[in-house]
Amino acid sequence: MNVYEGKSVFHGIAIGRISIYKKGEQQVKRVKIDDAETEIARYEEAKIQAVKQLQGLYQKALREVGEANAAIFEVHQMMLEDDDYNDSIKNMVRTQEVNAEYAVASTSDNFAQMFAAMDDDYMKERAADVKDISERVLTVLHGGGGGAAAIKEPSIIVADDLAPSETVQLDKELVLSFVTVYGSLNSHTAILARTMAIPALVGTPLPLDDTIDGKLGIVDGVNGKIYVDPDESTLARLKKMQREDIQRKELLQTLKGKENITLDGKNVMLYANIGNIKDLAAVLQNDAGGIGLFRSEFIYLEKEDYPTEEEQFQIYKQAAETMAGRRVIIRTLDIGADKQCDYFGMEQEENPALGCRAIRICLTRPELFKTQLRALFRASAYGKIAIMYPMITSVKEVKRIQEIVSLVKAELTNQGIEFGEPEQGIMIETPAAVMVSEELAEEVDFFSIGTNDLTQYTLAIDRQNTKLDEFYDSHHPAVLRMISMVVQNAHKAGIWAGICGELGADQTLTQEFLAMGVDELSVSPGSILPIRKIVLETNVEEYKAGK
Ligand code: PEP
Ligand code: MG
Repeated sequence: MNVYEGKSVFHGIAIGRISIYKKGEQQVKRVKIDDAETEIARYEEAKIQAVKQLQGLYQKALREVGEANAAIFEVHQMMLEDDDYNDSIKNMVRTQEVNAEYAVASTSDNFAQMFAAMDDDYMKERAADVKDISERVLTVLHGGGGGAAAIKEPSIIVADDLAPSETVQLDKELVLSFVTVYGSLNSHTAILARTMAIPALVGTPLPLDDTIDGKLGIVDGVNGKIYVDPDESTLARLKKMQREDIQRKELLQTLKGKENITLDGKNVMLYANIGNIKDLAAVLQNDAGGIGLFRSEFIYLEKEDYPTEEEQFQIYKQAAETMAGRRVIIRTLDIGADKQCDYFGMEQEENPALGCRAIRICLTRPELFKTQLRALFRASAYGKIAIMYPMITSVKEVKRIQEIVSLVKAELTNQGIEFGEPEQGIMIETPAAVMVSEELAEEVDFFSIGTNDLTQYTLAIDRQNTKLDEFYDSHHPAVLRMISMVVQNAHKAGIWAGICGELGADQTLTQEFLAMGVDELSVSPGSILPIRKIVLETNVEEYKAGK
């Protein structure tokens, strides 16, 4: 057995015969020609055919993987019509008196090298595209067919690299998985694989020879590995993983698109927690109704210096646009305690969890707070952003936030900068906030209960201290009663209340939360569908009666 490691593009397990993908690559010879104009006409004819093929591929991709992913084939059509590309080919035919194949191949090499040498990553990626379109024209000039047609039975396809056009032409019924030696995670090929839900690896250094061709292979897209000629125990282990993966995906499929509604008609919002915009794909994949907690401090923690207003604006805007009208709750900076940024220059504290953290930093350093608020208000013109303030203990703090928000809005108005009107809510994660939640509810649009901190502060147990695990009882009646109280006070004031701490994903409590009237649960993306299943199977009134 041999094992090779690569970068996983899409999770999943595939087991089957390995087939090395043989490209329809063209051997191009330099041939002297007599009649340049006839040769150019040959090229023009081949180009028309290539454009027709691309139109067909665009339609196929549109049906199978959607407009955004199909767009690459429109780009390829435009590239084929590009004046510089065409002038180079025709000029070569005329001045060097060479065949169209040679002129296309040489132009392809020249342009690809030019793109590859550019600083811009996006332009670098276009080198593969120019080779791809040229290969297509060469195939037409040679009257040949593509490489995908050679695949006859379901196989794990292994190649040095795959162009987007090659990937989309692969018959999904016959491709169990694909593995490439080269290729980046951001290439269109990788994007297509994800959208097509094919387990795939890129950047996998494996030999493209008889040591793998025709052998049994297992692609482990979860751990980024391909096993060639697996031994029995590996095969048994991966088969088990594959069964579990299939079950998980089946569950995922049947529950996607369903409303989170109980048997007796109670609705709950199931949102996702994220720390980075890279998590947005998982949010969409798991059918989250929105984002219930975007921990914005991770933007600060990943940097060496304060992120600028513009940097933050771009991130929040991207989240809002990607979620397309669904609520995106962004929590303002929650630095402090275990989340320290050197450049904040914070003083050492005896009790950091009870120290200068979260909203306390923002209220004592209003300029820092204003930068983030400006970015958030600006981005909310692009989608349904909601702002959430952490570690609140009093109405006074909320009033101070409101004053700063008014200043920010006045500044943006005076500067003629566009902004939206985001909803504004607070985290309920201190016992003090629970006890004054009736008053707080009059000031804000929603509550989100941070059970991680609420448990720590209620039980007086440092959440970081693993030695105290046996005392950290997240089901403690004090915590559960606090949640219930917060929900009741929210409803009295006509606002909604959710849970964004880890307890929200505790499936043994889902029914209890529904019984309390919790309006929203914000959990890691992978927990959404299992919780939806419980919601769909619950009758809240019966559950309450049976308690
Ligand atoms: C919480 O305290 O429950 C919470 C969601 O915030 P964090 O875990 O980031 O402190
Ligand atoms: Mg917290």
